[in-house]
This record gives sequence, C-alpha cells and structure tokens, in this order.
Amino acid sequence: MVQIINQMTLEFLSIPANVAFARVTVAAFAAQLDYTLSDLDEIKVAVSEAVGNAIVHGYDKSPDRFVKIAATLTPDTLEISVEDNGKGIENVEKALEPAFTTDAERLGLGFVFMHSFMDSLQVKSEPGQGTVVIMTKRVGAGIAPVSKEQ
Ligand code: ATP
Ligand code: MG
Repeated sequence: MVQIINQMTLEFLSIPANVAFARVTVAAFAAQLDYTLSDLDEIKVAVSEAVGNAIVHGYDKSPDRFVKIAATLTPDTLEISVEDNGKGIENVEKALEPAFTTDAERLGLGFVFMHSFMDSLQVKSEPGQGTVVIMTKRVGAGIAPVSKEQ
C-alpha cells in the first residue's frame, strides 16, 4: 500500500490571475516533501502550463468556468491532476507532439515542459467533456548518484 501523507483539492475560476495562485499554492503544498528549490520551480512551471491550457484552450478564455486541482503527497512523490470541463482535445497524441498547437500565436511547448519537468504525464480528454492532466514528480529524482571514483 502506498502511504498517503497529505491530500488537497482546489477549485478556482478560469481567470489568468489564478495561474499564479495555483502555481504558488501547489508549490507550497509540495514543499512539505524534501524537494530542492529547482524541483519546486519545475513543479510551478508544469502547474502553470496545465492551468494555462485549461483556461486558454479548454475554456477558450471564458472567465466564469472552474479549474480543479487535486494533489496527493506520498513519502517521496507528488501526484497532481489539473482538470477542466471544457471543450476537450480531439487528438491527444497529436497535442502532445512538440510544437503542435491549435493557436498560431503559441509555441506548442506546454506539454513539452510538463513532460520534461515531471516524472510522468498522462492526458485524458473527451471532446465536449473536458480534459484531465495527471502528473507525478518524485523527490530526489534529478540527483545523480555519487561517483565512487577518485
Ligand atoms: P504554449 O503552451 O507553448 O503556449 P500551446 O498551449 O498551444 O502553446 P501545449 O500546451 O503543448 O501548447 O498544448 C498543445 C495543444 O493541445 C493546444 O494548442 C491545444 O490545442 C491542446 N490543449 C492543451 N490543453 C488543452 C485543454 N485543457 N483543453 C483543450 N485543448 C487543450
Ligand atoms: Mg499551453
């Protein structure tokens, strides 16, 4: 059995100001584990990208919808989901490709950041129903083993 240390849910309006709110809140929650500052920065970027996508793409910038976050801490891992009930993604595989975007003014790098900064990324989406992005990050995953050579 995986031991759960802490859990939280957060629900907020789909307005741009809440991107920063979500990022800081999740980082403060994750800081209960022994992450490095750079780990926490990476978590912040991943959360920003997922919440930004929910607002910009999921809800087409409507400011009166809700984005939901759920996060769980186990002794060595943060699991976080970011959910919207917006328009959904037609082709998730395609959306995950680097530089794929449906908005010519964007770079199509949000999922690339989420993928590279977290240890796992899962996207579940149903057109017309919404999208859930689930990510995990382990504590100490980025630390190279100490070399025994002189
Ligand atoms: P950037 O993140 O670099 O500003 P982007 O948002 O277009 O650009 P990604 O974040 O990688 O790039 O997302 C790729 C595409 O996946 C988006 O262009 C959009 O079509 C789709 N997408 C992502 N998240 C959602 C969502 N929550 N709801 C609907 N579509 C989404
Ligand atoms: Mg994006």
